[in-house]
Amino acid sequence: MTTTIAEAVADKADSTANLTNSTFAEIAEVLRHHESFLVLSHVRPDGDALGSEIAMGLALQKLGKKVKVWNEEGLLEKFAFLPGGELVSVPPNEPEDFDVVLALDTATRQRLGDNCLAAVGKVKVWVNIDHHPSNPRYGDLVHIDSIAPATGQILFELLQSQDLPLDEAIAENLFAAISTDTGSFQYPNTTARTFEIAADVLRCGIKVGELSQKLYESYPRRRIELLRVLLDRMRFDGDGKVASFSLPLATAKELGVIPEDNEGLIDHLRAIQGVIVAIFFEELEGGKVRVSMRSKDERADVCAICVSFKGGGHKLAAGARVPGALDDVAQRVTAAAVEAVRSL
Ligand code: 5GP
Ligand code: MN
Repeated sequence: MTTTIAEAVADKADSTANLTNSTFAEIAEVLRHHESFLVLSHVRPDGDALGSEIAMGLALQKLGKKVKVWNEEGLLEKFAFLPGGELVSVPPNEPEDFDVVLALDTATRQRLGDNCLAAVGKVKVWVNIDHHPSNPRYGDLVHIDSIAPATGQILFELLQSQDLPLDEAIAENLFAAISTDTGSFQYPNTTARTFEIAADVLRCGIKVGELSQKLYESYPRRRIELLRVLLDRMRFDGDGKVASFSLPLATAKELGVIPEDNEGLIDHLRAIQGVIVAIFFEELEGGKVRVSMRSKDERADVCAICVSFKGGGHKLAAGARVPGALDDVAQRVTAAAVEAVRSL
């Protein structure tokens, strides 16, 4: 195939992001010339994780391959509407062998999940496709494009540039991936290319209104009840530049919320005038706290803060799991955030 805009843009991304990326042609060759595949993504999956997994699973199926799609948590209730969602399962108890394992949208190998990793037997080729700059480039074929706002966008470039299957169902999953990871095309990681891809994805036949309603206007009531409790616990530090709230395990149990209910609630903190860094602390079983951070200013790099607590992510959206009591972790992480915004 002659050079398409997709390839030209991908080449440009490669040259600025990382010179040692495997090319889309090399990845496509591996996809075409092997038979059994496993697709994985990160624990606590979001729309980009599950949309990317399902899109890749469907594309491989259309190529006539044997494909399994696992996620540590299985298919989340709120993404059950995605076409091909039934492909996603939790990992089995006994290890299985595969020619190729694809790790998508997953910043570290560990974030693929203990049960998923334990269920992976012998593998010929590991492929790592991601957009997290902190990705340590695990795997045999690695393509990290930190300019891409979503792994779904990289997959679109891969499928389109290499003449791999790209039908309406695949497009719907890619749209879900890109739309959710760009905050509905609002975050600064959204590029002109993202809108071009969105246009191409719409041309595959998806109905953007219906899909967006399923993604953004179909929340269970318990999520809003959780929001009410969290707003009651909201606090401000660092002259109002750092906003946070925390969720004790006991409160989550009382409300009957499940982990997927709280994704995106942090956006209410980020949306406040004067707030630069938003933080959500969620107490987990086993004496750990899940820290979720957002920034509105690249000079307040929340990835760097999270890396200092052994997490990772992007400059403007990052996370970590920190051992310790909820209030203690909240106090230490908030202090680091206050320090990061002090001179801004
Ligand atoms: P979220 O706050 O939505 O869970 O995650 C925001 C970003 O930070 C995502 O890109 C996610 O991959 C990354 N992230 C979240 N938690 C962790 C973590 O515990 N470790 C690492 N390395 N990255 C994380
Ligand atoms: Mn992502």
